[in-house]
Amino acid sequence: MALIVQKFGGTSVGTVERIQAVAQRIKRTVQGGNSLVVVVSAMGKSTDVLVDLAQQISPNPCRREMDMLLSTGEQVSIALLSLALQEIDQPAISLTGAQVGIVTEAEHSRARILEIRPDRLEHHLREGKVVVVAGFQGISSVEHLEITTLGRGGSDTSAVALAAALKADFCEIYTDVPGILTTDPRLVPEAQLMAEITCDEMLELASLGAKVLHPRAVEIARNYGIPLVVRSSWSDEPGTKVVAPPVQNRSLVGLEIAKAVDGVEYDADQAKVALLRVPDRPGVASKLFRDIAQQQVDIDLIIQSIHDGNSNDIAFTVVKDLLNTAEAVTSAIAPALRSYPEADQEAEIIVEKGIAKIAIAGAGMIGRPGIAAKMFKTLADVGVNIEMISTSEVKVSCVIDQRDADRAIAALSNAFGVTLSPPKNQTDTSHLPAVRGVALDQDQAQIAIRHVPDRPGMAAQLFTALAEANISVDMIIQSQRCRINQGTPCRDIAFMVAEGDSSQAEAILQPLIKDWLDAAIVVNKAIAKVSIVGSGMIGHPGVAAHFFAALAQENINIEMIATSEIKISCVVPQDRGVDALKAAHSAFNLAGTKTVTVPA
Ligand code: ASP
Ligand code: MG
Repeated sequence: MALIVQKFGGTSVGTVERIQAVAQRIKRTVQGGNSLVVVVSAMGKSTDVLVDLAQQISPNPCRREMDMLLSTGEQVSIALLSLALQEIDQPAISLTGAQVGIVTEAEHSRARILEIRPDRLEHHLREGKVVVVAGFQGISSVEHLEITTLGRGGSDTSAVALAAALKADFCEIYTDVPGILTTDPRLVPEAQLMAEITCDEMLELASLGAKVLHPRAVEIARNYGIPLVVRSSWSDEPGTKVVAPPVQNRSLVGLEIAKAVDGVEYDADQAKVALLRVPDRPGVASKLFRDIAQQQVDIDLIIQSIHDGNSNDIAFTVVKDLLNTAEAVTSAIAPALRSYPEADQEAEIIVEKGIAKIAIAGAGMIGRPGIAAKMFKTLADVGVNIEMISTSEVKVSCVIDQRDADRAIAALSNAFGVTLSPPKNQTDTSHLPAVRGVALDQDQAQIAIRHVPDRPGMAAQLFTALAEANISVDMIIQSQRCRINQGTPCRDIAFMVAEGDSSQAEAILQPLIKDWLDAAIVVNKAIAKVSIVGSGMIGHPGVAAHFFAALAQENINIEMIATSEIKISCVVPQDRGVDALKAAHSAFNLAGTKTVTVPA
């Protein structure tokens, strides 16, 4: 006999017939000898209908009243589902977030769960009842009883948090799709169902998976080791397993207030190779990384910032032992790049051995702007200059001078209240697919700030200002090329924001750069971001090369590149976004057989 938490989304309880079908399914599971807690969303699109009503009265409704209003949607569906269960002789009781003791922060409309006091819920389970819980809602404290909501899509989070608090055997998310697919099936009809995915991969695929599973739910599953399954309400297919890493016993107090950063990671065994002034046209990254992969050299970070004139700089890091090989390959390719008509200047190679990579990692940084800014500020405060930056959804990596490492580690550990994580690599990921899924993000804009003075504190200043305005940024990349502007070395910094935030971001940044010589902000909305994600790409040379080659074959120009251990993202022209997604999906055989062979 198992204790299971099941969550049914809005479409699954969208009509009376569907509610009755869900009731039948629940009853069957109970008859199989299980105890059940069922979390439900509001029926169909009813939350949107409520939002629309409020908007007709107030263009900017107060968040407290919105919580009052939106929390009613779930109250309708729990009562109806409970009635449907009773009607088929399955004892059941519906409870609101407050009644099951879901205590949250006093942050209306985006509250995080602090703790769950499930005594009453457990009492009803012992009575043999199915407990039907309103998702998406909680109360701010046991004294004030203010109704809060967790943010749109938050019922998934309610379900996984309950599973953690009840130490349930597993949690099932029932939805209107068969599970998590390798990519968006509306764009790529060949998208295939994944049998499983790790929590880390799911988090990096946020832009693909967020509609199916709330990232905060994944974060809780990962932190508490909850076995999680996403599956269809309309069938008995097994769906997709979202696999959590093994965890130690973790306190249930401050359940969702886990730190934004789990740990500081440090790697001094890397060296940097930069290839400056390569032509800005399709095929260049592909050629470079193909030649490198042929030598079995595993690349770690790769970055390419926005182009400068008609040329780009590409930089990457490799383990020091392989530096000579990487440098030799890079030198060999440089003359070939001169044959491009626009190569007015010669490509130049820079190699640096005295570097170290320092990173902060943690799922808690999703949806919390300002974590990268805090890292940059912390480094600036101890006088550490950042040479390379590469960010992904759950990680910010910086390349710094190795001599600064001790200071940087101490300052970051202190600032984020964490310790240095032991070096990775103990977990063998070679059996995992190199690429699990691919995602396309079309609602982002690229912002470049040209001629940022190259001294500690500049990135901190820019990104702190954006974070204060609650603007989330992604893919921050600093250029390799350093220009001397009247004695001051300068670099460009480029990054991505949600398209809707781009004008505000520009307005915030403009006053900050006005005293910098020749500095300028360039906004480009006509871009798209394509990402490939897979834990198996660690220690698997050639994945990046294969991705870039797929884009080159379609004649798609890569405008920016950023990587983390399990993700490679490329910014491409917007009108080529879907082509790029399709090319990546088929290059890694995601549509066909499950085994992915990547030519080295
Ligand atoms: N009903 C809420 C929403 O539409 C919560 C949920 O469905 O998860 O966002
Ligand atoms: Mg949902």
